[in-house]
Amino acid sequence: MQESHAQPEADLEFECIVRGGNVVTPSGTRVTDIGIIGESIAAIGSNLVPAAKTRIIDASGHHVLPGALDVHVHLELPFCGTVSSDDYRTGTRAAARGGVTPLIDFAIPYAGDSLAQAADNWMAKADGKALIDYTFHICVTRYDEHKDQIRGMVDRGFTTFKEFMIYESEGWQSDDRALFGTLEKMKEYGTMLLVHAESSRVLDELIARNHTPELMKEYGARLHRMTRPNFIESEAVQRVVTWCEATGGQLYIVHMSTGEGADIVKAAQSRGVPVVAETCAQYLVLDDSVFDREDGHLFACCPQLKKPEDVARLWEGLRDGEVSVISTDTCTFTREQKSMWAGDWTKIPMGMPGLETLLPVTYTHGVLKNRISLDEMCMKLSTNPAKIMGLYPRKGSIEVGSDADLAIIHPERTMKVDCETMETNADWSPFEGWELAGFARTTLSRGEVIVDDYAVVGTEGRGKWLSRTKAGLQ
Ligand SMILES: [Zn+2]
Repeated sequence: MQESHAQPEADLEFECIVRGGNVVTPSGTRVTDIGIIGESIAAIGSNLVPAAKTRIIDASGHHVLPGALDVHVHLELPFCGTVSSDDYRTGTRAAARGGVTPLIDFAIPYAGDSLAQAADNWMAKADGKALIDYTFHICVTRYDEHKDQIRGMVDRGFTTFKEFMIYESEGWQSDDRALFGTLEKMKEYGTMLLVHAESSRVLDELIARNHTPELMKEYGARLHRMTRPNFIESEAVQRVVTWCEATGGQLYIVHMSTGEGADIVKAAQSRGVPVVAETCAQYLVLDDSVFDREDGHLFACCPQLKKPEDVARLWEGLRDGEVSVISTDTCTFTREQKSMWAGDWTKIPMGMPGLETLLPVTYTHGVLKNRISLDEMCMKLSTNPAKIMGLYPRKGSIEVGSDADLAIIHPERTMKVDCETMETNADWSPFEGWELAGFARTTLSRGEVIVDDYAVVGTEGRGKWLSRTKAGLQ
């Protein structure tokens, strides 16, 4: 990183100076200033000199972090017989308040749609509503139809693709042939495949065996955890890692929730297999005992929450490196939507709100509990996702030349999670009532203040689509 002192920036006329915060940079964390011109960081150094019209943002006594990237988000997604209730307006407002500056959603083709149509559909959802920058992973749901469209999507600026090993009934499922063939293409194009790894045939069998009125009456939402033992995830992770190793195509395991998954990824990485893994904030702070609660069905997500041992193993993986990214898999459903289950766990809309609490949960339960350092947190929330998703150095780091995307947080001040006061459309939170530090006092997106004094002040529709030319750790 370029450390800037006296003379070069003496001539620079900053539009904004972020003054005196504890700034996390690639070369270390220290109290310094950040000078911004236009949309970018122009200087980092002590005692930057303001011009007459320079806006000063006092960050003293605060941490200044690169804006978090949430690279696993579903906004306004038709799913489980309904549509997820955060759209680009509420979803990106929630993101901003949580210090998230870009997000990546998944463009999933509707029946009969091409990959290009899927991207167009998601562009239309974001248009005029997004407060922060965004792009999409392109979902390959019908391999034979879509395989020859992948190259065109790369040329259009999309470098990450997604396949699901489950969701046959949604029409999204990819079989081994599709996974293998798509990974070959990823190798050829230098792009990356994201995979939802769960073992569908055995999962379907376990669901079918338990889908009886008697068992549902007895166990309710607990059947969600009972029908998804850890091997449902680990077998699928192992299988797709095998295809990754065989083809050399870059693979990214989304929302990894098991300790076994972390073991498999670690072993593969040690053999030089091009695989990386993501987990989500909820898998780091919750376990499947929530299904014993009266409102346990609210916590149904896919994959579901696992055991305390898995939680501990995922934190270890973050420290050791086999878990590279923390995201949210935000897919918000209200209490009313969740109530569609009516006692049948297979009908619960699966997903949780998360964008607004990603940074606060990770900061409070990771950094303040000494599980990871502040710098490590910024690697997992900002720098690694930016690098892996092909957005670095524009996003994900506080460096001269990068976009001025910043989250300024108080080191200790907590706020109680209360869905009434939050930006998300959810009328519940998995973290309801929790005292969390790390909500953004100030969020900047490309140099513009979009959250000030913990309140959203930015204009909807200002967020831009981010074009990419690469992906992965190549
Ligand atoms: Zn997802």
